[in-house]
Amino acid sequence: MVSNPKILVVGAGASGLAFALECAHRGIKPRIIDKRPNRSMIEKATGVAAGVWSQLSKFGVSPKTVETAIPMRNFAFYDDGELVANVPVPPIDGCPPAHLYPQGELERHLERALAIKGVEVEYSTAFHSYEESKNSILVRAQVSSGEIAPLGSYDWVIGADGAHSAVREAAEIPFIGRNYPENWSVAEITTNQWPQNAQAQLFLQSNGVGLFLSQPAAGLVQGILNDENAARQLTSLFTDAELRYERHFTVALKRVRTPRKGRVWVIGDAAHVQSPVGGQGLNLAIWDGVTLAEGLLAGDLKVEAALAKRARKVLFFTDFDYRMLATQSTLIRNARNTYWAYAAKHPSLARWFFKIISGVW
Ligand SMILES: Cc1cc2nc3c(=O)[nH]c(=O)nc-3n(C[C@H](O)[C@H](O)[C@H](O)COP(=O)(O)OP(=O)(O)OC[C@H]3O[C@@H](n4cnc5c(N)ncnc54)[C@H](O)[C@@H]3O)c2cc1C
Repeated sequence: MVSNPKILVVGAGASGLAFALECAHRGIKPRIIDKRPNRSMIEKATGVAAGVWSQLSKFGVSPKTVETAIPMRNFAFYDDGELVANVPVPPIDGCPPAHLYPQGELERHLERALAIKGVEVEYSTAFHSYEESKNSILVRAQVSSGEIAPLGSYDWVIGADGAHSAVREAAEIPFIGRNYPENWSVAEITTNQWPQNAQAQLFLQSNGVGLFLSQPAAGLVQGILNDENAARQLTSLFTDAELRYERHFTVALKRVRTPRKGRVWVIGDAAHVQSPVGGQGLNLAIWDGVTLAEGLLAGDLKVEAALAKRARKVLFFTDFDYRMLATQSTLIRNARNTYWAYAAKHPSLARWFFKIISGVW
């Protein structure tokens, strides 16, 4: 293993930034490119797990330093309009299992911490293709002029370029799994009507449609729906709502069998995609980035198996959560509702669930 490897990170989302930061923290400065002209502030994740905060704290990014992160202490759960449970969230190892905080803001902190370590994201530079030889990997990219130009030779290329990864495609790494059937939507509103005593609310229906609401920041509410009209649902629940945006998307449950092929790795959504139910995509992306950098720079290629194993477990969990949300079976709905009604009275019953959410396992 080369002692001072040359590394190219493709994609400056959460996984790419986390990988680059861990490298820079260990004295290796990777090159990091992104095809966008600048950072996208359209929000995706709102929940940041305790395990992720503890991985990021060594870079100076924690609920204390970002200040406006909201600890997850309570969530309310309704079925066909009836309150099923108002669940006090049990602390995990003395901390809330997650804090609500907008993904775009978190990425901005990571990018700033990276710049302090002397690594700047090169925007408007899109990975195009590569050629691998015994000792290195030669990469070509499309630069802002539209020209396809050589980007240099590297020891490792890290594909952190999201669900439609060009790196994964160029490496011909199979992406196995299936699509969920629905068309999903996400919308965000400003409102002053969010209840003080809950940080997340789940509105389920017997027809299998579920609306998940969270408060990424004071005065803001994000709604994710496994149907097409999240904005309409939000504006009917909050009478003072002003819509910030609505987006539509499809959801798949897919992963690579193994995240490495030769000198190419894929991490984050490039390696696995899943339903947003259970809120684990961002958390797994950051865990992947930090864990791969630690393993790769220590020369420990067993990290390949560790990444694949964690992804398998997290995808199993989020698929289970999706099934519980979207079920139309009366029997399963009754069992689910009874369980959560008990958990509201005896929060330790739901500790296993919040431990997985916390990422501390
Ligand atoms: C509505 C919604 C809600 C969600 N809520 C949660 C939640 O609450 N909690 C949670 O943990 N997760 C959540 N997620 C999932 C989470 O947002 C993703 O898993 C996470 O963004 C993955 O990060 P990433 O860095 O792997 O990929 P991305 O965020 O997709 O970043 C990839 C980057 O690569 C760049 N790129 C792409 N192609 C190229 C190329 N050819 N060359 C160079 N750069 C390229 C892109 O411009 C982008 O900046 C949610 C997702 C959605 C859609």
